[in-house]
Amino acid sequence: MDGATTLHGRHALVTGGGSGIGAAVARALLAEGARVTVLGRRHEVVQRLAAESPDRLHAVAADVADVAQVAAAFESARGRFGPLAVLVNNAGQAASAPFLKTDAALWSRMLEVNLTGTFLCTQAALPDMLRGGWGRVVNVASTAGLIGYGYVAAYCAAKHGVVGLTRALAHEVARKGITVNAVCPGYTETEILRESIANVVAKTGRSIEAAREEFAAGNPQGRIVQPEEVADAVRWLCRPAAASMHGQAIAVCGGEVMP
Ligand code: NAP
Repeated sequence: MDGATTLHGRHALVTGGGSGIGAAVARALLAEGARVTVLGRRHEVVQRLAAESPDRLHAVAADVADVAQVAAAFESARGRFGPLAVLVNNAGQAASAPFLKTDAALWSRMLEVNLTGTFLCTQAALPDMLRGGWGRVVNVASTAGLIGYGYVAAYCAAKHGVVGLTRALAHEVARKGITVNAVCPGYTETEILRESIANVVAKTGRSIEAAREEFAAGNPQGRIVQPEEVADAVRWLCRPAAASMHGQAIAVCGGEVMP
């Protein structure tokens, strides 16, 4: 593979890389020639993914919202595959509650995992990219980072924050060979969606199929996005040829959100 057109030899780190969208992103970057560190809190989950290609995948366990754990995980990642060139901030959680039932603990957890985690991991990776004069940061936000939805105020606020962080950092590093973008998936076929469907079933007594159809109906294409479709957008943004894609928040949602 040609290093000028692919990610051959570059080190990518994917947070939340052991499942769902993150696992699809890790596989896509691997196919692009990168060496990939996958990070998540449950070591057995990231380790299972890393076992798919032991020579080019590395697993580290950390909570993205914990400064010390992030520092240790990035040190371990560098020790294995060298300086970071690509960071995909994908780790996230999506808890829902009516606004007046959103307590301070839920609010803080949504901001810490989705927004502070993105901030901490980007601070940990950026010095490598600045030293190397090349880098890609892709933040997995959400359509909830672009528009509002009911019953997810904390998640929406955090994901809007991720989009704001993306745009601000894009200004700072624009002349450093580093691009910073966000992808904003609509409802995507992963554990997060399965939990949301289970939540609707528990609260409304609807069937799983009816709840699922309701989520799909918000997408003009009438379907749920697949993790590989989101991963493909991330892969494209990480390619050397995507150098002019910068400071963007790209919706991957079948047209649910149109600028
Ligand atoms: P998922 O399969 O549940 O993936 C979330 C991943 O994040 C898990 O691997 C989880 O691993 C990791 N994670 C959660 N909290 C973490 C923490 N504090 N520190 C480190 N890792 C953590 O769900 P997914 O849908 O693929 O989610 C990936 C991203 O897509 C999230 O940011 C989510 O908000 C976004 N998104 C999803 C949808 C959707 O409909 N699925 C739509 C829009 C945006 P551990 O539990 O082992 O830590």
